[in-house]
Amino acid sequence: MGEPTALRAKRGNDSVVQASQSDHFSERGVIGSSIAVREAEKQYGSFRAVDRISLDIEPGEFITLLGPSGSGKTTLLNLLAGFQSLDGGEILVDGKPVHNVPTHKRGFGMVFQSYALFPNMTVTQNVAFPMRMAGVDRETTERRVAETLEIMRLSDHARKSPSEMSGGQQQRVAIARAIVMRPKVVLMDEPLSALDRRLRESIQIEIRDLHQTIGSTILFVTHDQGEALTMSDRIAVLDAGKIVQIGRPLEIYRHPTNRFVASFVGESNLIDAEIMQKRGTTMTLKNRAGYVFNAESRDAIDVGRATVLVRPERILVSNEPTATSAPVRVTSAIFLGEILRIEAQMEGGDALLIRCTDTASRPLPAVGDRLHVSWGAEDCWVLS
Ligand code: ATP
Repeated sequence: MGEPTALRAKRGNDSVVQASQSDHFSERGVIGSSIAVREAEKQYGSFRAVDRISLDIEPGEFITLLGPSGSGKTTLLNLLAGFQSLDGGEILVDGKPVHNVPTHKRGFGMVFQSYALFPNMTVTQNVAFPMRMAGVDRETTERRVAETLEIMRLSDHARKSPSEMSGGQQQRVAIARAIVMRPKVVLMDEPLSALDRRLRESIQIEIRDLHQTIGSTILFVTHDQGEALTMSDRIAVLDAGKIVQIGRPLEIYRHPTNRFVASFVGESNLIDAEIMQKRGTTMTLKNRAGYVFNAESRDAIDVGRATVLVRPERILVSNEPTATSAPVRVTSAIFLGEILRIEAQMEGGDALLIRCTDTASRPLPAVGDRLHVSWGAEDCWVLS
């Protein structure tokens, strides 16, 4: 695995200094903790919400737990936070077991979907609260709070009360409060899901930059795959209490291990085909209508039937047949601004979703039109 963003940024200090726009980086940054989850288990009655999960998180890494509702993300985060106790396995932070350490002594920063700000306190007082509770002296508290408000671009709102701020601003205050002590670990449980799309996207970028600035290890929970792809060093995809794949965003998107990950992360076409030939990691396949194409795979796949992933944006569309194309019939076409979203049917019945970006040169096809599609081996991934 490569180096996590924060560590990379710390070593090449230029990017951090630029990101923090300050000469106080040494005070702002920390080296995040390593976290090791070993065979963690949590049961509710006979139901296993976390099913023997193991996960190694590097110091300063940004890890996202991604999965559908009920897959066990929050339960795993709660086990880490100490809100719930393990039924089996262990969790180590910087090599030390934490199961006997109460939540408030773990020293983690936490952000939840509900901002949970104190309504009768100003922004400054909210952010200063953890430092007051920890008995930090006034001068240090004032300096650190001012720095943190600056990092979160909240300095102009310092005297406001939460009720005078928008949802996005309130969540930024909650994040500021979570990081003001410069915790070595920050846990975030769906912090952006109450916000509208534009705001979510801009705070995603802010959190990513913040991670580079403060250097904490961040564990982020979401069911939004776009959010996970945008922010994470690595993504752990959960299904039914287990991690089904863990990897860098590009790897998860391009090379999912199974149908679940392929369908959950991004839009996908899953085509049944017969593997006819195998040369290293490149395979020649034929779908049920007889369309022959090449695809990449992990090398452990045997000849036989297979499911192949083709991402909608990797499909080439032409009006005339080419040497490698297959004919399709358009069943729906929508202009979405930057792309055309075309649904089509291949001969033999496979439905195809196509996201066509050459909107300038291609008019919107009509339902019933015949088009020709093709894709290269590098655009096509055989699932194991
Ligand atoms: P969501 O995205 O909806 O928050 P999640 O992936 O975070 O989902 P969890 O909240 O971890 O999922 O829940 C995992 C499973 O454990 C769910 O089936 C849930 O119903 C169950 N569960 C969680 N907490 C309890 C509880 N206190 N008692 C009984 N079952 C629970």
